[in-house]
Amino acid sequence: MKATLFRQHGGPEVLEYTDFPTPEPKPGEALVRVRAAALNRMDVMVRNGWPGLKLDMPHINGADGAGEIIALGAPLQIYPFGEGPGVGHRVAINANLGCGGCDYCLSGWDNMCRNWHLLGETIRGTYAEYICLPVRQLYKLPDDFDFHQAAAAALVYQTAWHSLITRGHLQAGETVLIVGAGGGVNTASIQVAKLAGATVAVVGSGADKLAQAESLGADILVDRSKNEEWSKAVFTATNKRGVDVIVDNVGTTYMQSLRCLKKGGRLLTVGNSGGPRFEIDNRFVFAKHLSIIGSTMSPLKDFATVMDLVVAGKLKPVLDKTFPLQDAAAAQERLWKGENFGKVTLDIA
Ligand SMILES: [Zn+2]
Repeated sequence: MKATLFRQHGGPEVLEYTDFPTPEPKPGEALVRVRAAALNRMDVMVRNGWPGLKLDMPHINGADGAGEIIALGAPLQIYPFGEGPGVGHRVAINANLGCGGCDYCLSGWDNMCRNWHLLGETIRGTYAEYICLPVRQLYKLPDDFDFHQAAAAALVYQTAWHSLITRGHLQAGETVLIVGAGGGVNTASIQVAKLAGATVAVVGSGADKLAQAESLGADILVDRSKNEEWSKAVFTATNKRGVDVIVDNVGTTYMQSLRCLKKGGRLLTVGNSGGPRFEIDNRFVFAKHLSIIGSTMSPLKDFATVMDLVVAGKLKPVLDKTFPLQDAAAAQERLWKGENFGKVTLDIA
């Protein structure tokens, strides 16, 4: 098969479009002909590498993808989860790889699996014509559903849904503040929060990104480039009430986020684009009865819920630009430089 892979860590120049052995499905797995892959910033971080990251080289990037099932391995039911898709079906790939057998997986929290992997991070991913995955990782799409829409949806919506709805218990009528406008999880969070009946405030940099956030349903827009102390602007915009829930995947912004929250508020986080270490003032946490709630990806049941909403058109992935598989380096550069609004995808014809 053709794949875009790398043999050593480095810049975009290490990506190589070449031949690689087509994988064969093990028991319980399906062989998927990938038709579209969607990029995440994680792809570039894995390509660059970090201390302690050990990969079986050559490595193939890519957490998100969609395609058709070509063949199935021998049947094997580790645990039943509805009726799985079969040969010929279009599927969206779920990158959250639980083992299916540990206590967390068996109790429905496979994103907390004891032997957890993320597709494309430590396991070869979707920048390839074919991939083998356990059937439970595949969501059956309608026959005419667009592969790029499906690939663009999978990671960001499950992440946003699990954080806001399952972990954050977001209720209709609450106010949510989303710190950052352009990233994939943040745009998904705007849509999920609106669907839940919340009022959505967004802090973002620049008129363009805020206009796009507004087009996705954001009600209150705060321009960070004009308000360094944006927590005050948010407080004013909410009639000095503050917000119930904050989505903060930056991290270094926590002090302002903690200030914006109402008493009893929840700060949700699924990442730290501003870096992993920063200071907070603990007095805000206990004196205001705040909760800081972390999560990553989602269990299978949330993935199915959110993909049902995507297929029904209630959540609409924002697509940026599509590149052919052999131009994955240019696609990653576009994403890494922040030139995109919405998901960058690869076409795997
Ligand atoms: Zn497990």
